[in-house]
Amino acid sequence: MTFKEKLKLVINNMTEGQCADLFRVLNINMPERHKCMCCGYYTLVGNSEEIAYDICDVCYWENDGCKNDEDFSTCNHMTLGQARENFRKYGACDMESAENVREPKYYEMSEYNE
Ligand SMILES: [Zn+2]
Repeated sequence: MTFKEKLKLVINNMTEGQCADLFRVLNINMPERHKCMCCGYYTLVGNSEEIAYDICDVCYWENDGCKNDEDFSTCNHMTLGQARENFRKYGACDMESAENVREPKYYEMSEYNE
């Protein structure tokens, strides 16, 4: 597990208040969150360069820049539309990844980020 993955795991298990306290103590800004194009939750943490090719914890889609249903993703081996359909059916961008995903956190919901 990389440092970034470990850190993500820790942060994912903290409450909003704990997160804010930690970032205040460390004197750093809360990280930017971006919406996963497949599941729609705000799971991608960092600036647009840092989130390139990150894998979403909620649906396992690799963020390769696809935006529309008909866009074919080479690294995900399917179109974004197929992945979205799979997420509705299996709760992951493909059936095989269903065991690797987790439930979204409250701070990853769109109402918290928009
Ligand atoms: Zn996702």
